Amino acid sequence: MYQQGMNNNLLGLDQMELVQLAESLGEDSFRGRQLYIQLYRRKQYDLGHMTDLSKSFRLRLLQDYSVTLPTVHQAVTSRDETVKLLLRLDDGAFVEAVHIPEETRDTLCISSQVGCAVGCTFCMTARMGFARNLRVGEIVGQVLRAIEMGLVGANGFNIVFMGMGEPLYNYRNVMKAFRLLTDSEGMDLSHRRITVSTSGVIPVLKQMAEEPKLPNLAISLNATTAEVRNRIMPINKRWDLKELLDVCRDFPLEPRRRITIEYVLLKDETDSDEDARRLARLLRGIPSKVNLIPYNPNPGLPHERPEEYQIRRFQEILGELNVSAFVRKTRGLDVAAACGQLAHLETS
Ligand code: SAH
Ligand code: SF4
Repeated sequence: MYQQGMNNNLLGLDQMELVQLAESLGEDSFRGRQLYIQLYRRKQYDLGHMTDLSKSFRLRLLQDYSVTLPTVHQAVTSRDETVKLLLRLDDGAFVEAVHIPEETRDTLCISSQVGCAVGCTFCMTARMGFARNLRVGEIVGQVLRAIEMGLVGANGFNIVFMGMGEPLYNYRNVMKAFRLLTDSEGMDLSHRRITVSTSGVIPVLKQMAEEPKLPNLAISLNATTAEVRNRIMPINKRWDLKELLDVCRDFPLEPRRRITIEYVLLKDETDSDEDARRLARLLRGIPSKVNLIPYNPNPGLPHERPEEYQIRRFQEILGELNVSAFVRKTRGLDVAAACGQLAHLETS
């Protein structure tokens, strides 16, 4: 049976649920399919304009349902053209999404939760604490809003679940959103251009490994010893990095695909030559590429960004040990839209 959102938002329902909804209102199942196409393929959010549906059906829907996208409370553009969207949800909560224009392909960074419970010491979102999981319509809604604003086209861009929240703590909704985003009859985005990033929720990763269709996987490793990882990512006390890497070793990958290993470089904490060598050892046998993320400073957080030469040196050591490593370009720093800076502490 379809599940109604708290606000009866039609966005977030999949094709089967919309068919069931149509049937429950005495309509032909075909009407549910039409509604699905209107919402996700035509991106028509005004029930009044869905003229292929009978007027009586539309009126019936209007009585109990709405089609709601997150509203743009604020949009700030960085000097480097990155746009940070502060989006307001139905209950007044805020999440942030970031549009990062790139030469070859734009990236949209979206949130999975309001806040985050994981508590990494270097991340601003952690400071907010955890408020709630996003609903499916709120996850897909971030993408639809960016399309509606013309920030991205209807396809041909990357989506990364690297905004606020730990996606694997909202697994059911994230995966349902993933299926909606990639359904060829609906939004039809490529699953190869969608990446879910996790701090390492092992039982959910194991569950994920069983899925028939998967997004790309990014793992926020961020340290090479349990001692350091326990300190900066408390989740390591529950699910240790060795065990996490074992799960990565067994993770099903499509041909030529690799797991992205994210590694935040914190000065004098995770950026030593020894760390680089240890990282290379840890990743043996895992088809992976390393994304080095120099720490983006946040007020009040007890970390520093390494010097430029140490960042390069870390990358070089990895390269010498045959590990492909990229340094993630810092984008949106001046508007607090860079990795780990997303937080909206105002309540309204
Ligand atoms: N919760 C998920 C998704 C958020 S991703 C996860 O942690 O994987 C955000 C990425 O940015 C993670 O790889 C995280 O390690 C990194 N990050 C967090 N705070 C940062 C900061 N201040 N500077 C640089 N990277 C940061
Ligand atoms: Fe949560 Fe990811 Fe931030 Fe850690 S880095 S607090 S898991 S959002």
